[in-house]
Amino acid sequence: MRLLLTNDDGAYAPGIKALHQALALEHEVWVVAPETEQSAVGHAITLAYPIRVHPLTTESGMQGWAVTGTPADCVKLAVRTLLPQPVQMVISGINQGANVGVNLLYSGTVSAATEGAILGLGAISVSLDTHHPADFSQAADITARLVAAWPGLGVPPGVSLNLNVPALPPEEIKGVRFTRQSTASMRETFLERRDPRGHVYYWQAGEVMSTDGDGYTDYPALLEGYVTITPVAHDLTHDPTLAALGARNLDLGL
Ligand code: MN
Repeated sequence: MRLLLTNDDGAYAPGIKALHQALALEHEVWVVAPETEQSAVGHAITLAYPIRVHPLTTESGMQGWAVTGTPADCVKLAVRTLLPQPVQMVISGINQGANVGVNLLYSGTVSAATEGAILGLGAISVSLDTHHPADFSQAADITARLVAAWPGLGVPPGVSLNLNVPALPPEEIKGVRFTRQSTASMRETFLERRDPRGHVYYWQAGEVMSTDGDGYTDYPALLEGYVTITPVAHDLTHDPTLAALGARNLDLGL
């Protein structure tokens, strides 16, 4: 296949390098990724500023462009303009840190895959569950196997797969589980500091994910030692509420 790789940790991050190494063995791979880290920008796109692109350096071993935009910008720009030929899939990652629960909304990694799905392409986001420097090769190999399996999975257009890999040695990984997005949410702490001019400012200092949910939701399964795969759609409609509201008479004076 011809693949587009991106991520939100930047074109020169170790995760995308490992992913490139694993996928370039079997596929034609193009990289269009942010020039600098764009973690937690969600599905933002750039409208008020120009987007500049720089060819990736040959030392990186990757063909493509580093882009002064968001992950979603990268996918749009690559598909609409930069790539010489169409790609079949967008692979986004490997992110440093799991993308589970409510994080799917904040994640630039997941949003890049979502953008690929919106554009009608196969799409996978992949994250490794550690915030420490890590070996991404195992997660890269798992992703390469999922890409190889993709044509047989029957994932419908508009849906991407969100893959999370535990940062465990292979003998401690229990297997693969298809999961729901969990209701895990974050409890953030903010440090209050004072700048040299005496003004107070805040800096988000860390967040703790709650572990709500059963073993068939993403975060709890990941913590149990499973590789998790969650199918993700971008339609945010809450169907039960829509059905319930439809049964009411709402008078807005119209
Ligand atoms: Mn990131």
